[in-house]
Formats: sequence, C-alpha cells, structure tokens
Amino acid sequence: MTHGTDHLWTVSEHLDSILGQLAPLDPIELQLLDAQGCVLVEDVRVPVALPPFENSSMDGYAVRVADTQAATAEHPCVLDVIGDVAAGSGDLPTVGPGQAARIMTGAPLPPGAEAVVPVEWTDGGTGGGPATTMTAHSVDPAGAAGEVRVHRSPSAGQFVRSRGSDAAAGELALPAGTVLGPPQIGLLAAIGRGTVTVRPRPRVVVLSTGSELVQPDEELGPGRIHDSNSFALTAAARDAGAIAYRVGAVTDEVETLRATIEDQLIRADVIVTSGGVSVGAYDVVKEALSSLGDSFGDDAVAAAGQVEFRTLAMQPGKPQGFGRIGPDRTPLLALPGNPVSAYVSFELFVRPVIRTLMGVGPVHRDVVRAACVVAVEHSPEGRRQYLRGHYDRTSGTVTAVGGAGSHLVKALAYSDALIVVPEETTSVAAGEEVDVVLLG
Ligand code: AMP
Ligand code: MG
Repeated sequence: MTHGTDHLWTVSEHLDSILGQLAPLDPIELQLLDAQGCVLVEDVRVPVALPPFENSSMDGYAVRVADTQAATAEHPCVLDVIGDVAAGSGDLPTVGPGQAARIMTGAPLPPGAEAVVPVEWTDGGTGGGPATTMTAHSVDPAGAAGEVRVHRSPSAGQFVRSRGSDAAAGELALPAGTVLGPPQIGLLAAIGRGTVTVRPRPRVVVLSTGSELVQPDEELGPGRIHDSNSFALTAAARDAGAIAYRVGAVTDEVETLRATIEDQLIRADVIVTSGGVSVGAYDVVKEALSSLGDSFGDDAVAAAGQVEFRTLAMQPGKPQGFGRIGPDRTPLLALPGNPVSAYVSFELFVRPVIRTLMGVGPVHRDVVRAACVVAVEHSPEGRRQYLRGHYDRTSGTVTAVGGAGSHLVKALAYSDALIVVPEETTSVAAGEEVDVVLLG
C-alpha cells in the first residue's frame, strides 16, 4: 500500500495492512504439553482400540450370567471366589461355572466371565481380605478365596466396557484444525501419542525504550519512572498465546537500540517495541528503524526490510510503526510509549498478529453493544476513541473507568473493556449504546 506520510490511517486500514502481510507459522512437532492451546495440523488416527481390552466399570465380581440369573434378595446365589483381578493384571484366572473373580474398576474381564456384579449387589464376600488390601499384582487366590452371595443378576455384558467402545482402531481421533485444550490432550495421551504436529506459539520479544526508565525494584532517580510497558506487554503477549520474552528498557540511543533489536532477531517471531515513535527529539525507535536497511548485515535494504511509521485516526495510539525486518522479515510493531496507548495498541494490533501466526481463532477480541452509563462529554472529532471501561454483563451496560489520559495506569488496571467512540462522534449521551471491546 502506498500512502504519503501525511495519510491518516484508520484503525482497520492499519490492522488489515499488518495482517495482510502475515501467514501462520510453519508447523513443528511438539511434546504434548507444549502443544496446549495450539492448532493441530495433522489428522490424528487411533492406532489401537480404546479401551484396548474388555474391562470392568465397577468394583465387584466377574461372573457367568447363567450362575446369577435366578439371584434375588431373598434367594441369593452363592459363588466360589477364585481370586482377585486388579487393574493392571496380566495373569487372569478363568471363571468356571459356579465361580466368580473379585474384580476392580479398569481391570481386564477374566476369561469365562460375561458380566460384572457390582459389590453393592453382593454381601461383599467372605473369606477374602478387604478390597483396600488389593494390589495390582494380578491373581491372588489366597487373598480373596471364599464365597460371595449375589442378590441381583447383571445382564450379559453389564458393567463391562467393551474393547473399542470409546474409539475404534483406525478411526479419526482429532482432525487437523483442532485447537488442543485439556480434553484433546488427554485423548492424544490415551491413544499413546507423545508428540503432535501443530503450529507453534509465536516467540514475541518485548522491549521498551526510554532513558527515563528504571526497573520496578530499583529506586527512582530524578525524572525517572518505572518501566511498566515491558511488563504489561509481555504479560499481554503471553495472555494472547505467545511465548513472550521481556527485554528490559533500552536507552534512547539509536545504536544501542539497533544492536539490541539485531541481537533479538535470532529468537523472535515478532518484535514489539514501546516508546520513541512520536515526533519528539529523542524518538529513537523512529530514528533507528526508518533507516534500518543499512544496519542488518550485508544484504540490501529490501532483505532487511523497513519499518513504516504511520499516523492513525485513533486516540490513544496515534503514532504506530509496522514493518518486517532482518533476514527472516520478522514483523515488528512499534507502539507508542504512553502506557495506556501501548496497551490499547497491543490489544488492537499485536494480539491479532499473535493469533494469526498461531492460526487460531478468535483473532479479535469480542465486541458487544452496551448502554453507556455515564455520558462522554467530549470525544475528538475524526479519531476513533477507545475509553477504558467496566462492562456489566448482567445489565448490558458499560461504565467508563478513569479519564481519557493515556498515562492512567491505575484506571486501566480496573477496567475490563474498551468503549469505542466512533470517528464522527464527539459526545455520547448517558444511556446511549456503544460498541465495547471485551478484554477477556
Ligand atoms: P514516548 O512515546 O517514548 O515519547 O513516551 C511517551 C510517554 O510514555 C512518556 O511519558 C514516557 O515516559 C512514557 N513511557 C514510555 N515508555 C514507558 C514504559 N516502558 N513504561 C512506562 N512509561 C513509559
Ligand atoms: Mg520515550
């Protein structure tokens, strides 16, 4: 897209121009737990039937149905208990006529048996040890020997989970495109998959700029403030699904910033900077990145890429930079430095970038209509304003939190939504409906 430097970009023009240059990351094979939240890119089939063998769904007695058919409370049938079958048993007793094997949930149904009588339908047996003493060491004829009185008969196959009743061998376990949440990860483990091929989480490097910045646990000197952006943005990147790396604050020196960014390219799928993008004398990001071409290796400017600085019709967040830099054409988003501007910019532009690279939806935050409880007296004409607010789901209303000042980090910490005041709207009456971006 070619625009003069004086072009005023709308929020959606800027966003579309960024997302239009990006594609999901190439798939990689990951350990199951590292793939959580990622999108599967392969059809995964079930290699072995699930469950892999007939097993009991209850603690009780494995029996032959003919032996128990006549059982009632008044006339229980009496069976010889020939042994125990615990979960994990490999060595199974054969249940003959008039016999039963004490069985635990998940244990294989022994040969000869056709059903399981739950322990509640019996007298609990005599002569055997209590169930709690059972171990996974298969048959223990001595331990359980004795008799059991059955006062109700199971039907054939009752309380038995048949082989393949959950999933048959060869069937599709999960199709490509599935986002792996806890139950999907459980299924993959159940069918024996230790690794899967997914789109990885993007590695997002966050760095803030400003010679005034000191770390949170350091003392403030004159004119100094704590670096909050690199923390908020790293947390936001993680929240969006990225693997986020926080690089501490970089001073307002062009060469230092260039060197730092160049160092970070090796591990970054996305670079996010804050500060230094407006028109001040020390707007170092703008200075360092507008002419980045020469500074990245021997390749031509085209290979190194360039960052374009734009003026957006939005408040906060008017100055924004975007480009693709370095040998891999790594996307870089340069956000303004005011903490609220940086955060709002992240929500509107960086979050969708992360979701797009992961190939997972929703790419954008949900937007709902809500009645604005308090009037907005003045909103800038020609700019889309994002005010911080608290959204009440029950009443479908939104209340502004704090003012429009883009330094108000405390108010931001008490908000969970952004109230959108459109470009042409200069005031909102109390009770009027507005778009609200829900911040999750
Ligand atoms: P800049 O965009 O660099 O001109 O910064 C705009 C305002 O945001 C200034 O008041 C900065 O001190 C402040 N600011 C910039 N970076 C940060 C940061 N990382 N944490 C907190 N405040 C910042
Ligand atoms: Mg600055």
